Amino acid sequence: MARIPTICPFCGCGCSFYLVVHDGQVTGVEPSPDNPVNKGMLCAKGWNSYEFVHSPDRLKVPLIRKNGELVEGTWDEALDLVCSRLIGIRDSSGPDALGFLCSAKVSNEENYLFMKLARVVFKTNNVDHCARL
Ligand code: SF4
Repeated sequence: MARIPTICPFCGCGCSFYLVVHDGQVTGVEPSPDNPVNKGMLCAKGWNSYEFVHSPDRLKVPLIRKNGELVEGTWDEALDLVCSRLIGIRDSSGPDALGFLCSAKVSNEENYLFMKLARVVFKTNNVDHCARL
């Protein structure tokens, strides 16, 4: 058995806990008693935050719609497609035809970079975050 320290992925509070791992499988969490944010406590989402890790429904490769069907693609293929579509929309309809929505499930630093992508690269202030939705 191993206990791996990490941060809850479900909101920006930043509660910390240990993932409990048995034979390479995550089987539970233990809240960190010393973390000043959660002080040994977790909400219901935090207690169940590990359940997606081994879900058979979890997407592990990007899906790209081709001829009306979603098919597995590579990350390079998916990112090239997203990039070319965003640039195409910006060039044909203007930057405010785009909107960027980020997530509390990523770090503050990643949210910051995402905001910079919207404002500096694509020249739009249409950027928001799921915490406001
Ligand atoms: S345990 Fe709950 S409050 Fe803490 S970070 Fe996770 S979702 Fe947020």
